Amino acid sequence: MLVVTKFGGSSLSCATQFAKVKNIVMSDPKRKIVVVSALGKRDSSDTKITDLLYILHAHLKYSVPYEDIWNMIYTRFVDVQNELHISYDIKEDMNTLYKELNKNISLDYLVSRGEYLTAKLMSSYLGFTFVDAKDLLCFNYDGKMDEELTEKKVKQAFSEYGTIVVPGFYGAYPNGSLRLLSRGGSDVTGSILSKCLNVSLYENWTDVSGILAADPRIIPSPKAIKEITYAELRELSYMGASVLHEETVFPVQQLNIPINLKNTNDPQHPGTLIKNDCADEDTIVTGIAGKKDFLSFNISKDHMSNEVGFLRRALSIFEKYNVSIEHIPSGIDSFSVVVNAASVEKCQYELVTDLKKELDAEVSIESDIALVAIVGRNMAKRSGICGTIFQTLGQQKINVKLLAQGPEELNIIIGVASKDYEQTVRSLYQNLVA
Ligand code: ASP
Repeated sequence: MLVVTKFGGSSLSCATQFAKVKNIVMSDPKRKIVVVSALGKRDSSDTKITDLLYILHAHLKYSVPYEDIWNMIYTRFVDVQNELHISYDIKEDMNTLYKELNKNISLDYLVSRGEYLTAKLMSSYLGFTFVDAKDLLCFNYDGKMDEELTEKKVKQAFSEYGTIVVPGFYGAYPNGSLRLLSRGGSDVTGSILSKCLNVSLYENWTDVSGILAADPRIIPSPKAIKEITYAELRELSYMGASVLHEETVFPVQQLNIPINLKNTNDPQHPGTLIKNDCADEDTIVTGIAGKKDFLSFNISKDHMSNEVGFLRRALSIFEKYNVSIEHIPSGIDSFSVVVNAASVEKCQYELVTDLKKELDAEVSIESDIALVAIVGRNMAKRSGICGTIFQTLGQQKINVKLLAQGPEELNIIIGVASKDYEQTVRSLYQNLVA
């Protein structure tokens, strides 16, 4: 039995956090593959090493003095080495990096040094072998991962060294130049390694005790979710719950490798388990998430229902402007197309003109719409949930602008005015989750 153990930046922010990580890794011999992010924030006013590296890159590029930023980065790493008496001498690598700093340094290379140096420190501290992600995660020049080659390399490295620390967040092109993943991408590194080694568990350690059933900025101390399916997680993260990088589940889902989200500061807490076959608990609604800033194009035309192809023609206009569509609630001679407001920022008026001209229809725009998703694997084929939702919102005098449910009945999406967003989440949480 093997476990991939990934630690996020907050679990690696200083020597104290490093010590917690060591206790966690050493307390279970199955934890043989460790993935690390770069040193994160020590408190809310602090700056992540990754962000400092991005700033450093901008300073270099625009020839702005960068000594202060460099010193901040240098000190953070060296402090961890000194405080923990780690034998790997990070100063040497940092001095080499300092000499490489110049106006044209690659952004991907410079920013990846956060995870690289963190992994080097951690490998020395744990007594595990450092394996560079550039030798494991192989990308083709089109940016797609060469899955076969990656798997081969990961297996080779693991069988050669047995216990390894790998920096997250980057890989390399065939010529060796580095490619960063998108922000938060160390989660994905952990997931890829889990898949390649077909491990029994992928542990993802952060500073919260699992996934919360609602946004804690709206609901004070929401419940932590014990078990959640990959599909439920996808719905919640798509609708704004910030949990894992959204590409994390895909590699492990194929092999049904569970992900356990755990808290480095409270390792005894079971956290949240993400997997396919969750226990059938009594919980009907697993969680609630939502986002503001949607906009609806309301399109109407007499006898539209008799015109074959009308919807297709309308949607092709959105396609022309490369706008992705969220929902299409419809009536008989009218329908609306709900999109993310940012996606039409630059083409909103052109879209309306084209829609009017090509469809000969009335078109109006309604802005400031918020969408709220009520997600639960146990909602399917169960009556009364919409009843509770409408009753709750009716009592609060909140008007429902749109309603959608996917065919799997895994989620119900409610559209309300943005001003009612927080109250909608609060009242639904109270009646469906708490
Ligand atoms: N350090 C990177 C970031 O801040 C990657 C990660 O933490 O996963 O986005």
